[in-house]
Amino acid sequence: MSFDSLGLRPELRLAVDELGYTEPTPIQARAIPSVLEGRDLLAAAQTGTGKTAAFALPLLQRLTEANPEPRGSRAPRALVLVPTRELAAQVEQSFTDFGRHLQQRTALIFGGVSARPQVEMLRRGVDIVVATPGRLLDHANERCINLRDVRHLVLDEADRMLDMGFIRDIRRVLALLPPNRQNLLFSATFSSEIRGLAEGLLKNPVTVEVAQRNAPAELVDHRVHLVTQGEKRAVLSHLLRNGATPQTLVFTRTKHGANRLADQLTRDGLECAAIHGNKSQNARTRALEDFKAYKVQVLVATDIAARGLDISELPQVVNYELPHVPEDYVHRIGRTGRAGCTGQALSLVSDDEKDRLRAIEKVLGRKINVLPLDRSQIERPPGEGLAREPRYVDPRAVAQAAAARGPRPQRAGQSRHERGHRGSEPRSARPHDAGSSQNRNPANPADGRSQGAPHRQGASHGPSRFQSQGRGRRNNGRQPA
Ligand code: AMP
Repeated sequence: MSFDSLGLRPELRLAVDELGYTEPTPIQARAIPSVLEGRDLLAAAQTGTGKTAAFALPLLQRLTEANPEPRGSRAPRALVLVPTRELAAQVEQSFTDFGRHLQQRTALIFGGVSARPQVEMLRRGVDIVVATPGRLLDHANERCINLRDVRHLVLDEADRMLDMGFIRDIRRVLALLPPNRQNLLFSATFSSEIRGLAEGLLKNPVTVEVAQRNAPAELVDHRVHLVTQGEKRAVLSHLLRNGATPQTLVFTRTKHGANRLADQLTRDGLECAAIHGNKSQNARTRALEDFKAYKVQVLVATDIAARGLDISELPQVVNYELPHVPEDYVHRIGRTGRAGCTGQALSLVSDDEKDRLRAIEKVLGRKINVLPLDRSQIERPPGEGLAREPRYVDPRAVAQAAAARGPRPQRAGQSRHERGHRGSEPRSARPHDAGSSQNRNPANPADGRSQGAPHRQGASHGPSRFQSQGRGRRNNGRQPA
C-alpha cells in the first residue's frame, strides 16, 4: 500500500515523501482514512508504530480543508494532550514536519520552562496545540488560551497520562472543550480506567489495534548478564568502554541513581549525561540533543525517557536496573529497534531482580538469553568488588544438593537463628545488597520526596502556576512529566 491510496492531500504526500516514508505503517493505513472521515478513534498502539503520523496527517488535512485561508488571529482547533515534555516536543515537531507545505500553526505547551514565549505564541494565534495537561490548565486559568474552538482532541499515550496521575487534569481540560468534536485516543495498554475514559469520551469509535511495529521480540536482541549489585557499575563501565556502540541509553530506577551512575561513568572516562524529572527542562533538552548528535555516548535515564523518545537508530539500551513494572521493560527497549532497525537490549540482573526478570519474560512470552560474563577483563574500580562467580543459583539444584548432603552438623554454641543468613553469606549473594537506594520502591513516598507537593486544587480556583514554577504534581510516585 502507498500513501497515495489514503486520500491525503498532495502537500501531505509530498511531506511524507520528503521524510523518506515509502509506505504507511499498519496503524497509519487503518487510522488515516477513518480520521479523515471525521470518526472517533480508539487505537491500541505504542510509540514506534508510527502512531503520530496516524493522527497528525489527517488532522492537518481536516484543519486545512475546514479553514484553507490562514486568518490573522486564531484560537486552536486541534488539541493534542501528551504525558511528557519530550513527547510533546516530538509530536509538535511531527506536525511541523508533516505540515511544512501547509499553513497550519502549531504551539508547544509544557511546564518547566518560561510561560511567556508560549503566551506570545498563543496570542499570535495557532491552529494546533500540543500540550502536557498541567501547563495547559495554567494557561487556561490565566485566560491565555481559549479552547472553545477545539474540534479535534487527541489523547496520546493515554495510559501513561493516567499512570502519571493526570486523570483529574484531563477531566478539567475536557470540561473546557466544546462537546461537538472529534476524539482520538491512543494507548499502549487498556486498563479498566482507560476503558472508562474511552467510554465517556468516544462516540461510536473505530477501533484499531496494531502489534508494536518493532515488536521487541523481532528486532531487538535481548540479553542478560547475571551480576551482583556491587559489580554492576564496573561491568557496565567495562562493556561501554569496550563495546563498539556509539550510543547507549541506560535506564536506572531512580533519579538519584541516574545522577550517581552518570557521575561514576563520567569519572570512568565516558562522555555521559543524565535525563530525569528533577533536571530542568533546558538540561533535559540539552542532554537529549547532545546524545542524538553523538556528543555524549551514554545517556542515563529514568523511565520518564522510556516512552515517547524517538532517537533514530539507537543501537543499544541497557537496563542497569530492571523496572518495577514489567511492561516498562517493553517501553524502555522500544527506544531501540525502531523504524525497522535492529537493536540490542542488555539487562544487568542481580539476585534481587530475579522475580522482575521472570515477570518481564512472561510479558515478552519468551526467555531472555543469559550470557556468561568474562570477569577476568573487567577492571575493579576502587572500593568496588567483582563477584568471583555468577550468582544465579537454581534453587532446585541447591535443594537437591542439600538433600544429598543430609543434615548439617550444628556449630557448637551457635543456634541457627544466631548464625543468621546474611552473616554467613558472601556479600555478593545478599538479596538486597545492603539497602541500596536503587532498590527503593518509587511507590514509597520517601523515594519521591521532590515530587511530594500537593495536587493543584482546581484549574479555575488554584493559584497561578506561572508564579510557582517547578512545583510538583501528584503522579502516583512515578516520574513527573
Ligand atoms: P511514532 O510511533 O509516531 O513515534 O514513530 C516512530 C518512528 O517511525 C518515527 O521516527 C517516525 O518518523 C517513523 N515513521 C513513522 N511512520 C513511518 C513510515 N510510514 N515509514 C517510515 N518511518 C516512519
